[in-house]
Amino acid sequence: MARVVLVTGAARGIGKAIALKFLENKDIVYVNYNKSDKEALELAKAFSNARIIKADIALEEDIKKMIDVIKSQEGRLDIVVNNAGIANDTLVESKTKESFQKILDVNLIGAFLVVKYAREIMEKGSIINIASTNGIDTYYPYSLDYDASKAGLISLTHNLALELAPNIRVNAVAPGWINTDMNKELDEEFKDKELKKIMLGRFGEAKEVASVVFFLASQEASYITNSVIRVDGGSR
Ligand code: NAP
Repeated sequence: MARVVLVTGAARGIGKAIALKFLENKDIVYVNYNKSDKEALELAKAFSNARIIKADIALEEDIKKMIDVIKSQEGRLDIVVNNAGIANDTLVESKTKESFQKILDVNLIGAFLVVKYAREIMEKGSIINIASTNGIDTYYPYSLDYDASKAGLISLTHNLALELAPNIRVNAVAPGWINTDMNKELDEEFKDKELKKIMLGRFGEAKEVASVVFFLASQEASYITNSVIRVDGGSR
């Protein structure tokens, strides 16, 4: 039986690479998007097993409706990937309570709400949260709000792993620098400095994160829960 998968923020970037892995495996994939309507439609055209679903992960009502749609169409959900995320790289002085809250609403509270509602139609399966090495040990003053949200997401992963065991495995993947839109405006000098800290000497590709997520969702990972797996090329 085809698995029913939800990937948030799945029309572009890492989320799209994750959705493609499941789509190519013939799973039924709910491709959530917020602003990328055009990219989502392209995926729907290319794959008959793609179900595109618009929802702003910062809004509880949108999340509730999205899960209701999956419930009415499939009656169940097997795999959830909390991938939607935003950053706001600015100096501390430029950040505000509102800008900090916006990061938490998508990256942390959004992931919590997706699980809260998805849980109602998930008897067993796997949840994978896309965190970041910034939530573990990479310090970067411009993104203290983002880093805190990802540390929170890792904490959420641990608590959910305990609460939802043994039927649902909950893990996090923590990417380092990955080539996506999120990093396309990096200053060249800064990028060169960061490259020197990576053992493999390059930024990663979205599909290199996707393959780890696909593994964690599979039966091959049946004894893995509560883990945070770094996909960072060996960053120091
Ligand atoms: P990206 O290219 O900027 O894509 C961000 C994705 O998040 C888009 O699909 C976007 O959807 C979605 N999103 C943002 N706000 C949303 C909202 N309110 N509701 C629903 N979807 C929303 O970033 P990325 O690099 O692929 O990042 C994906 C995840 O990996 C994020 O959680 C990020 O923190 C994490 N990560 C990335 C890196 C990296 O180096 N790239 C490293 C570590 C962790 P729409 O376009 O439809 O709005």
